[in-house]
Amino acid sequence: MLRGTIPLGRYAGVPVGAHWSVLVILVLLTDVIATSVLPAAAPGHATAAYWGTAVAASVCFLASLLAHELGHAVTARHYGVGVKRITLWLLGGAAELEGSAPNPRADFVIAAIGPAISLVLGGLCWGTAFLAAGVLPELVATGIAWIGFTNVVLALFNLLPGTPLDGGRVLRAAVWKRTGDRARAALVAGRTGQVLGVLLMVLGVGEVLVLGQLSGLWLALIGWFLVSAAQAELTGDTTRSLLGDRTVRAVLDPAPVTAPGWLTVEAFLDTVAVPARARVFPVVSFDGAPLGVVALGELARLPARLRFETRVADVARPLDAAVTAGPDEWLADVLARTALRPGRDLLVVLDHGRLAGAVTADDLVRTVELAVLGKQAEAPAAEPRSQA
Ligand SMILES: [Zn+2]
Repeated sequence: MLRGTIPLGRYAGVPVGAHWSVLVILVLLTDVIATSVLPAAAPGHATAAYWGTAVAASVCFLASLLAHELGHAVTARHYGVGVKRITLWLLGGAAELEGSAPNPRADFVIAAIGPAISLVLGGLCWGTAFLAAGVLPELVATGIAWIGFTNVVLALFNLLPGTPLDGGRVLRAAVWKRTGDRARAALVAGRTGQVLGVLLMVLGVGEVLVLGQLSGLWLALIGWFLVSAAQAELTGDTTRSLLGDRTVRAVLDPAPVTAPGWLTVEAFLDTVAVPARARVFPVVSFDGAPLGVVALGELARLPARLRFETRVADVARPLDAAVTAGPDEWLADVLARTALRPGRDLLVVLDHGRLAGAVTADDLVRTVELAVLGKQAEAPAAEPRSQA
């Protein structure tokens, strides 16, 4: 998440936030509408009327941007892809997905719904402005027409065929469907995104140098953003192509040494932790239900005299503060959303609320290193371990 993001509540269950840089767009848009768009299209009104309409129009535009992002988010949910949050910022909006689409069709629909919503909103606004031209006050009709026009531009720009733009994801889905190779499709779309970004930067700088128009800087900024975002996606996709379709199940330890939550810390150290050679443990209840995670480093902060009276469950980090994953999640997705700290975190693998195993930070790093070397990590043997 961008630092300096203000939460705006949840819509359709998705947390929405606005980065302070949204204010920059709001001010720039309002200024352009009030001082040039409206006076040119509908001359002869009071300055205050121009500014009032301009503020309303730019707020409505931000709302339509949010509708576009919510479209991505709700559709992603529909296909079983989690959505972390939606952030509105300087260059528009972004819905952060927690995984990847399960198939090309889902990839396509999740991407295409955003521009589709913008196009529909654009058409509705234009239609309203056109049909109600004589009924609505002139400034209101002009404002609505502007919102319609901007939504159409937003849709068309987003359909440019390079990631991270929606058009890039549509291209990715198409190549994925044709070749059956998601990694290759992502590479094609990412490279196009980079080319597109460079092109926009050149156009923007050209506009400034040749035409002397400072607005070209805006285009150059968007181009620069596209290049770096496409690069970031390519890096993420490299991990993905290295790890392929490998799931958590392939690397999990199905029988990790667990910390019995009901034991006192002292008893746990003597009977479990010392012989185990592990540093981080999943904590379980008496009937084997997962409760959380505890690391030796955390126990070390507990005053020694309290070890005899404190239970492991009382000092464990609860499950919702721990890193968890399902056994069939793709490893690349897990790596993309979490960073395990060695000796402190443990990937707790949950299957329908039951403890299905665990993956240590070292195991994860080792899997990636072996993948770089072109080797597969073997799944740990499911040998039963002695456990107090
Ligand atoms: Zn979009």
